[in-house]
Amino acid sequence: MIKLIRCPSCGEEIVLNDLYKGMEVQCKLCNCIMIYQDGKFLLLDTNEEFSIEELAQEEKGEEEELDEEFDEDYYFEEDEY
Ligand SMILES: [Zn+2]
Repeated sequence: MIKLIRCPSCGEEIVLNDLYKGMEVQCKLCNCIMIYQDGKFLLLDTNEEFSIEELAQEEKGEEEELDEEFDEDYYFEEDEY
């Protein structure tokens, strides 16, 4: 299981090779340390908590909305009734 998150402090990408409760993650760029617990990362610098979804955000954004085109074929059959 490999996950990519962003450092909440500096925005640097951090690769997680593993994920378990109590795991310590250190950003190589700004050296801040986060502890993973209960689905969240606790940033030790500020005691702030970040959910993993929050940190896993990617900045590409535009590639996610392509799914809609696949539904079109179904409409043709229903016109016969
Ligand atoms: Zn950082």
